[in-house]
Amino acid sequence: METRIVCVDEKNIDKEVIREAGEIVKAGGLVAFPTETVYGLGGDALNPASSRKIYEAKGRPSDNPLIVHIAKVEALSAIVKRVPEEAVKLAQAFWPGPLTMILEKSDLVPAETTGGLETVAVRMPSHRTALAFIEAAGGYVAAPSANRSGRPSPTAARYVAQDLDGRIEMILDGGDVELGLESTIVDLTAGTPVILRPGYITRQMLADILGRVEEDVTILRDDSGQAPKAPGMKYRHYAPKGELTIIAGPKQAVAEYINRQLEGCRREGKKTGVIASDATIGVYQADVCKNAGDPLDESALAKRLYRILREFDDEDVEIIYSESFAGAGVGQAVMNRLLKAAGHRVIELK
Ligand code: AMP
Ligand code: MG
Repeated sequence: METRIVCVDEKNIDKEVIREAGEIVKAGGLVAFPTETVYGLGGDALNPASSRKIYEAKGRPSDNPLIVHIAKVEALSAIVKRVPEEAVKLAQAFWPGPLTMILEKSDLVPAETTGGLETVAVRMPSHRTALAFIEAAGGYVAAPSANRSGRPSPTAARYVAQDLDGRIEMILDGGDVELGLESTIVDLTAGTPVILRPGYITRQMLADILGRVEEDVTILRDDSGQAPKAPGMKYRHYAPKGELTIIAGPKQAVAEYINRQLEGCRREGKKTGVIASDATIGVYQADVCKNAGDPLDESALAKRLYRILREFDDEDVEIIYSESFAGAGVGQAVMNRLLKAAGHRVIELK
């Protein structure tokens, strides 16, 4: 299959291109599109064959549920059994935006879209191209991140093409995404709301609206021993090809430790990479050094993380060390992704 890549300017949307993209989805095809979080791989959420195609194109296990994207709040009621009070409040506060809610699904949503679950994940993105495309596609677009399963989520159209060229009908190229990390996922089906995946909408922001909010225990811990709350949570995600280890502890100790390891790698002829910050980027002797920026600027970090991981892949880096970037707000989401990418390999120095 030939994949058409078409540029769409969010500020001056080409209606004809959006109409064509919508027609592809209505006919059961797949179109990747920009959102404010990462690029999505879109198919008709109400068509079981489309969801099967999404799994196939991504190489993703079919019990890993998809997020249904809508373009207006009124579209929600048709795909869920009921709209709880909490969902109304959260939609008012954060939609359109980077928040996904888990609700009980209605019969309209096929089991193929929800990985066999009785619940459905729903989000209304804020990206104008995404909204126009969802509307043109019939109003319900199932979309996981537009990467091959196990690779970092794509933050630009060229990364979508790297992973999915020849496997989907079209890519809408909207340039670099704004946020760079996937949406926050909150489960509203289990009594107290539970955050299943941290993101831009932080625990504090949710608590301000809802009062009580819990966090799934696997967010910052190794989840291999835990029964996953949702099937999707059991899969290793966001992994670069090289072996990534996070080194935490006092700055000086971290720098010395990493440089010693790099020396060992060099003797073995291994290509090395480091993820450092503004203040430390100069001290490392790796083949490829990536600056994640100012560690206090958590948003900048979020925006850069996946691109950095993919660039290591492009340069065939074999061994990667990263400083730790723990933070309270968005920093927690960054750390969650970094830990997953590292398969929870963390060395804590004193
Ligand atoms: P992605 O589309 O790649 O951002 O990932 C979607 C993720 O959303 C899945 O891997 C699940 O972890 C989560 N998800 C989607 N639907 C549900 C659901 N019904 N219940 C719980 N988690 C869900
Ligand atoms: Mg994904």
